[in-house]
Amino acid sequence: MTNPTIIDGTFLAMKKIEAVREQVEKICSQSLRAPKLAVILVGDNEASKIYVRNKEKKAKECFIDSETIILPSDVSKEELEETIFKLNLDEKVDAILLQLPLPQNLISDSFDEKYFLSLISPSKDVDCLTSFNQGMVFNGSSSIYPCTPQGVLNLIDFTYSDLDTSISFDSIKSANLAGKSALIVGRSLLVGKPLSLMLLNRNATVTMAHSKTQNLQDLVKDKDIIVTATGYPKLFNSQNVKDGAILIDVGINKLENGKLVGDLDFESFKNKDCYITPVPGGVGPMTIASLMENVVKLYKNR
Ligand code: NAD
Repeated sequence: MTNPTIIDGTFLAMKKIEAVREQVEKICSQSLRAPKLAVILVGDNEASKIYVRNKEKKAKECFIDSETIILPSDVSKEELEETIFKLNLDEKVDAILLQLPLPQNLISDSFDEKYFLSLISPSKDVDCLTSFNQGMVFNGSSSIYPCTPQGVLNLIDFTYSDLDTSISFDSIKSANLAGKSALIVGRSLLVGKPLSLMLLNRNATVTMAHSKTQNLQDLVKDKDIIVTATGYPKLFNSQNVKDGAILIDVGINKLENGKLVGDLDFESFKNKDCYITPVPGGVGPMTIASLMENVVKLYKNR
């Protein structure tokens, strides 16, 4: 009987954080100021508060300066705009992250989340969500890539490096994806769409699936790489998944019993010869580590 090989995102993220910390130490040893991340948190969304706290903690571990600007949920459109403009102009701020989702009262037909994200200066847009930076991702010439897709690519490269835990993060080679077939399930601006372009730019043959796709279980057939980012548990199982496939589960779903699970029917893979990320402990830690990496890249760009 075979077992799946677990792709340990917690381990890889730790390696990545170490690499980022070394870079910041080098910067600070030259008597230069540390890179700085500013996070804007609007309202009382409990999950957002936890995400922001985790980001502050990781920034501290990397010696990155971080500041969280907390705005009440009834903040006006103008106040939020002004907060973003001030951070754009602040010479000491290298990276700006607007934590989503925004409270409903800020959203209207004319001003959705995309509008507020578009106000961030592209040179400080740490998650690549402005149209300018999305264009750069589109043509493959961006200096930074969105945090979650970047973390997914790192996990794929790590897997193709035989999950060699002895090498440093910077020694992990970009895998040759020419001739590899990839299926991405989910077409969000945050994950699925940029990831499809990033894999395409790496010469993979990419298939996209989404909520209107029929027969998902058939589409998984023969794919070398499968990435799911939907927010729906048990989206598909191991049936038709080819031996040796790499499965990256971006989804985070809280079940009624409080358990966190991904999009994949994880149990069904327990006798499958494949590589698979767990939830939690897969993509989540890599997203935060990639955020820290992007802060330092933006600092260096400026
Ligand atoms: P989203 O809601 O913006 O997009 C979901 C996508 O899934 C849509 O494109 C939709 O078409 C597709 N979809 C929905 N139901 C489907 C179905 N039955 N079959 C096929 N496709 C379907 O979500 P998002 O922001 O991309 O996030 C997706 C999931 O990933 C969520 O669970 C989110 O919490 C998680 N997430 C995790 C991380 C991380 O760091 N681990 C980061 C971002 C998002």
